[in-house]
Formats: sequence, C-alpha cells, structure tokens
Amino acid sequence: MNCMGIRYGDEMIIVDAGMGFPEETPYGVDISIPNFDFLEEYRDDLTALILTHGHEDHVGALAYILKKYNLPVYGSRFTLALAEKRLEEFRMLDDVLLHRVQANDIIEIGNFKVGFIHASHSLVDCFSLAIETPIGTIIHTGDYKIDDTPVIGKPYDLDTLRGYGDRGVLALLADSTNATVPGRTPSEQAVIPAFREIFEETTGRLFVATFSSSIHRLQIIFDLAHEYGRKVCVLGRSMQKNVEIAEEQGLIKVGHGTMISMGDARALDDDEVCYLVTGSQGENRAALWNMATSTYKGMEIDKGDTVVLSARIIPGNEKNISRLIGHLYKRGANIIEEKRRLVHVSGHASQEDIKIMVETARPKYLIPIHGEYRMLFRHKEYVKNHVAGYSDDNIVLIENGDLLELDEFGARVVEKHDLHKTFIDEESMGEIEYDVVRERKKLAYGGAISLVVMIDKKTHQIAGEPQITFQGVAGLDSTNGFAAEAREAISEAIAEMKVAQIADKTVFKENLRIHLKRFVQKEIQSKPVIVTTIVEV
Ligand SMILES: [Zn+2]
Repeated sequence: MNCMGIRYGDEMIIVDAGMGFPEETPYGVDISIPNFDFLEEYRDDLTALILTHGHEDHVGALAYILKKYNLPVYGSRFTLALAEKRLEEFRMLDDVLLHRVQANDIIEIGNFKVGFIHASHSLVDCFSLAIETPIGTIIHTGDYKIDDTPVIGKPYDLDTLRGYGDRGVLALLADSTNATVPGRTPSEQAVIPAFREIFEETTGRLFVATFSSSIHRLQIIFDLAHEYGRKVCVLGRSMQKNVEIAEEQGLIKVGHGTMISMGDARALDDDEVCYLVTGSQGENRAALWNMATSTYKGMEIDKGDTVVLSARIIPGNEKNISRLIGHLYKRGANIIEEKRRLVHVSGHASQEDIKIMVETARPKYLIPIHGEYRMLFRHKEYVKNHVAGYSDDNIVLIENGDLLELDEFGARVVEKHDLHKTFIDEESMGEIEYDVVRERKKLAYGGAISLVVMIDKKTHQIAGEPQITFQGVAGLDSTNGFAAEAREAISEAIAEMKVAQIADKTVFKENLRIHLKRFVQKEIQSKPVIVTTIVEV
C-alpha cells in the first residue's frame, strides 16, 4: 500500500497509491488500500500524483485516490498503460489527466521539479524520482535493484543519480524490501541457465507460472521457447493483458508466430508448447490452480507435465502454494521450485545494492522506506556499519502515519497518525466500512443470536411466542433447552414493560437486545452478535 505525500509550503505532491493484500484475510477481505482521509487536511494543497512503476502495491489504489482527489498523474508509458486498464474498469478514464514521461524528463510542478531516473526492477519502465525542492533534493528510489544486465532496457542509471549526488541530496528515501539479504541481487538474466536446462530436459508439456508483471522473465521464456522449438500459449487474464501491453509498446519481443491460442496449442505435440500461466502464489482463481483442480475450461495438468514455479513465495501465501503443489503432485506432474533451481530472482536491492545506492546519492539524510519495520531497521543497521559517514544522527526510521519534517536544521518526526487501512470488497471493488469488518469479526468470534418478536399493531401486546435462533454460538446447541429458557425470559421482560416502551419501536428493540444480552451472558461466556426484529401484525 505504498503512498507518500511530499509537501513544501502549501503545495503537496503524492508519490504512488498502492493496494495491499492483507496477509491474514480479515473476514473475507482480500484487498486493502491506504485511508486517504489523511489527505483531507491538505485537499487544497494537492497538485499531482507521481507513479514510480506499475506494480499493484504502487498503483492499485489509483482509482480510489483519484475519485477523492482528481489530480494529474505522471508516470512512464508502461505504468500508465497498466493504470489505464484499471481506470477503464472503473469507467474513470475520460475524467483523468495522464501525463506520460520518459527517463531523464524533468517536470515542474509548482515549487517542485521532478526528475525521472531510469530504475531497474523486476518490472520494466520504472523510475526513481529526484524531487528538487527549495530546501534541497529528495531522491525517492521507488522499487529498484542495481541490475547491470537486465533482459529488457538499460541498467540502473547510476550516472544521473551521481549527478544529483554531486549537486547535493538532502534526503534519500530508499527501498528496504531486501535489506536483510546479503550481497548483490542477481540480474534478471541469472535465471537463464536453469531455464535453459529445463527446456533441454523436458520432453512433455511445460508450464511456467510466474508473476504476470515479471516482464523480463516473460521475455526469457519467449526467447528460450523459440530457441527450443516450442510455441508459447499464454493463459490467465492478467498475464494475457500484460503481454499484450508490453508487446504493443515494443518492450517484449515475441518471434513471429510464436504466440498461439489454447485451441492451436492443443493440436500440437506435448514437446512443441510452453504454457505461460498465472497462479504462482496458489491463488484459487488463477489459471494454474484451476488446471490443477480440473476447473479450467479446456486444459488440465496431467501425468508427465513439468510445472515451473518461477516466483518467490509472498509471505502469507505459504499454505495456498503448498496446497497447489499437493494437487500438482496428485496429478503426476513434475514440479520445479525456486528452492531447488535458480528459476527466480528478486526485483529488490540487497545489502550491497543498497550500499551502491547510498554511496552514489550521498544524501544528508537516509530514510528507509518500503517494507516492514524489521527491514527498515536492518537497512539502517547495514548502512551504519558499511557506509562511512552514516549514524543514528542521519538515518531516520519512520512508520506508516508519521509526519517527517526536513529543514536546514535536521530531520525529525513531528507527528504520528494512527491510520486504519481501508478494505475493499473484491467482487464489487467498493470500499467496505471499517465497522463492517469489525461486525464480521464479532460474528466470527461470537456467532449470532436472532430474536423475532411479533406485536399486535393495535393493542401493542405481544402476539405469540418470541422466536429465538442462533448460529455459531459456542456452548449452545438446539437441544439443550437454551432457546426455551431464553424465550421465557424475554416473554417475562416484555410483560413488565410499559405500553409506551413497546409502542416506540426503537426503544423496544434496544430493550429487547439488552435483556437478551444479559440473559446470554449469564448462561455462556461468549458474546454473540444479537439481532432483534419486531414484526407488527
Ligand atoms: Zn515493484
């Protein structure tokens, strides 16, 4: 859920607006976005939204932030192509101003001058930002690794970064995702030897599952498939979409006739096709899961197939991936994982990449960003111990919701805000109120008891017996007499109420709820959600 505001005077630019995927699914919610209410205070100051790159955790909340604040958006051609697809789904494309920028462009936005520095990452067309302000330059790395030999595009543009370093950098806001990993992050090309072996030794069908955004990886598969006489069939909506955009923009090069449809692929021999599929994280709706569980139309994993999982396990997905692998084994497939062969490399800077970054930018202050606090902390420790001139005085750790103030005297956190996530319903893509999630949590822990009371409209007397039902309440079952006792207790309580208390439905309902709650708490320990309904007859 990367998102940051940078403010000088009464002008504020926003960098990235990402979505998150909560690790422990909180009661049916799979997606979260930043709570943009924080920005309300600065509504009149907001001038632009700058995107570093097109990964979901940097652009996924674009539609939601633009709905609240219709800012002009700046990003690379590829990033904006991905963003456009997303805005189209929300029917917002016509209302939004998108500015395509290229590496080395410098744009002026009020008091800010924003320079775009070409960055290498697992995705393509990514930027680090050089944000010049009247009090100094801020470098925001975005996600990056120092890749000297990427598959697509140029290496990280250290020369331009060094230029900013020479002129003086006030603060470096730097990616910490891999700050716990020693050494250099291997180049995107590092997976080629393992994939070459796989193409050489595989005689049956070959399935490669990877992130649909790992564009370098996709290019490698297309190249090797062509070299080893296999056609490529792309399955999974996000994979097809990304390949289409990347090919349109000339980023991915697909040999003439190499890419084929599923229908054509089925007509070929097993060793003439390579399938590029989504679902490396065991996602239950993705192509690979469906092919492993016979729910994909027209294609399933079979004995003798080779499946390469060319991705890291994102924390939180271990169980799903483990179940996916179980299904694949049951079907007789051969599985190749990251643990056993070098079929995946990270897109983020490891410790020695971080060292290169800090030594090239030479900032007055280093501010680790991106990643959990543990990673920010290790980022700080590593730089303190391995780069001359850095100590507790000029490395500042910040957390979500912190307001950091930078001026000629120093860098310090001046305010802390407690920010809630905003949850998104995956079906409707609408926001779910925080209260709804809290209600679901209560239901999950305590279950529900529902009470229905019928009242005679004219006499305001109870008509018939109250009805009580319960779902998922611990300590209760339908045979232990609880419902009968509760019915009796409620009937007695109603008998003692005055007519006026019954005539006002809101008062009556609340009274019933309180009586039932007291009765329940005497009988059992749990705190179920109590739903009262009054029916007038
Ligand atoms: Zn990224």
